[in-house]
Amino acid sequence: MSEDIPFNKTLDLAPDTVDEVAPQVRRVMANNPGPFTFKGTLSYILGRGKVAIVDPGPDDPAHIHALLEAVRGETVTHIFVTHTHRDHSPATPAIKAATGATVYAEGPHRAARPLHIGEHNPLDASADHDFMPDVRLKDGEIVSGEGWTIEAVATPGHTANHMAYAYKEKNLLFVGDHVMAWATSIVAPPDGAMSDYMASLEKLRKRSETLYLPGHGPAIKDAPRFVNYYILHRKAREASILHRLGKGETDIPTIVRAIYIGIDPRLTGAAGLSVLAHLEDLVARGLVETEGQPAIDGVYRLAR
Ligand SMILES: [Zn+2]
Repeated sequence: MSEDIPFNKTLDLAPDTVDEVAPQVRRVMANNPGPFTFKGTLSYILGRGKVAIVDPGPDDPAHIHALLEAVRGETVTHIFVTHTHRDHSPATPAIKAATGATVYAEGPHRAARPLHIGEHNPLDASADHDFMPDVRLKDGEIVSGEGWTIEAVATPGHTANHMAYAYKEKNLLFVGDHVMAWATSIVAPPDGAMSDYMASLEKLRKRSETLYLPGHGPAIKDAPRFVNYYILHRKAREASILHRLGKGETDIPTIVRAIYIGIDPRLTGAAGLSVLAHLEDLVARGLVETEGQPAIDGVYRLAR
């Protein structure tokens, strides 16, 4: 289903080593490979001398040590966090304690919508509920350091608090988990929301940055074109769901079996939540009906 996106899975990078991925940008990859993290979470260091770190990463002593070694002899003045999944933000307190840097982010972790009655949040364990930034950023806010300027670009959808960061002097975007070269992003309710996610993609497509540095996997060149593929992919998935519902009312496991052919079994749960994200959006738009609130165990039909 995702063969349409020109994925790039080439990333020749050893964990917890430093390389320069773009002028004035270094990266250090945590050793946390997995079905959701690819080879590991990427922490970025921007500038020289007085630097900023984007996404300190998981609470892993080896990664924290490697990141601090990478900036030895320099001053970390700012920490920017894209979102509060446990592979991105939990190392923040340790890096802040070691450097005295100020922490910037959209805000603490929160769901995209209130929980329905009786609903438990299947994503609770993946979130860093302890995270709190020193400075909460709004969309379009500018933060300047020594030799660099960052613009906060609100990109809700993967999480409600997801923020990308534009490095103005280099016309590049630290894009977190919103867009990745190696796979599609996970959009899973209640933390994620498909309508927000699609709106954030449309917003990025109109921006000027041509190079994206994501939270996982290689850099994305020709970024607006890649974002366009992402948008087309989601629209195709929505069309597949509507097509399946056109054959009669059905549940989410049946839709997953119909449209995710050959999926990694470890991703079946995430696929179900992704279908739920589409269905929430389709119900809100009046195209699909269900009893009560859209739920993972609900039955869905085309609206009459
Ligand atoms: Zn994430």
